[in-house]
Amino acid sequence: MKKLFLLLFVAVQFTACYQEDDFTFDPFDDTEFEDEWDDEDYEDDYEDSEEGALTLYRVNGDEIDRIKDYEVSADLKPYQQNYAKHFEMWEFVTRLLPRNSRNKIGEFEIFHGGGDLLGYVMPIDDNDLSNWRFALAIDAVEDLTTIDFTALFTYVTIHEYGHVLTLNDEQVSVSQSESACNNYFTGEGCSSANSYINRLVEIGWLDIINQHDEENPDATYNNYRDRFVTDYAATNPGEDVAEVFSVFVTKENRPTGNSIADQKVNMMYDYPELVRLRSEIRSNGDVRALKSGSWRNDPLFSKFKVCGHRGCKHAQADVHAAVLK
Ligand SMILES: [Zn+2]
Repeated sequence: MKKLFLLLFVAVQFTACYQEDDFTFDPFDDTEFEDEWDDEDYEDDYEDSEEGALTLYRVNGDEIDRIKDYEVSADLKPYQQNYAKHFEMWEFVTRLLPRNSRNKIGEFEIFHGGGDLLGYVMPIDDNDLSNWRFALAIDAVEDLTTIDFTALFTYVTIHEYGHVLTLNDEQVSVSQSESACNNYFTGEGCSSANSYINRLVEIGWLDIINQHDEENPDATYNNYRDRFVTDYAATNPGEDVAEVFSVFVTKENRPTGNSIADQKVNMMYDYPELVRLRSEIRSNGDVRALKSGSWRNDPLFSKFKVCGHRGCKHAQADVHAAVLK
């Protein structure tokens, strides 16, 4: 059961709830799916038939080689067969993120998120945090010819990369159990004292983590708004540090206030390697796009914003309920 939770924790890192006018289910009520969550075979099923997964690639430096096409329904075939788009998406990643920053990404997956899921990451093997699958939704793609730091797809790509950056083997140890861990335990393992996520927890979570309910992160957000760069960041420290990293990179200026949210962003400026990485990433952008507009104005982001963690979980559990039949 624990493992299953962790798998889900990683798989639903960055999601947006699907909303339509006639959308009636309560996204914050996931009780009807709890049976599926208890299924011992869940992980195997998840591995074999990922809903929406289109094509999996192996990453070799700047190149990708196709490992496999997943079984997909007829309506997803055109997305799967649009290999040119897959390669454009990977090329976008390589232009955005410096090569040496990508050395822990071993696989690249293209999936169709159905308007719900924009991207996710997961360790290819739970016991090896040096090797990650990096997955982006083909239906979240915007203009790939320009790197625009105000565009949501750029934000999503940096957010997902933020998970790899903060949960990898140099930051988190899988060999240390939760009970033996004196720092923040991420779910994947024990974070080191000077890791980015542990520092972030010290700044803004230690005194509230016992009252935080992952099933109801909105309560935490509403009680402590000045601690979070976005409402989604209140989901848990793992999402928080990815959001803080994405804001750290995409925002032009360093925060000047002293809110806890500002302190979290400023904490990233304390690490010279992150400041270097930020300027390398930003040097790849289109200068015209560095100042105007915002990813916050993207309609997909507003869907993302209203998504509570249980809502996201519900959407994902719904997918798996279908898979298991
Ligand atoms: Zn995430």
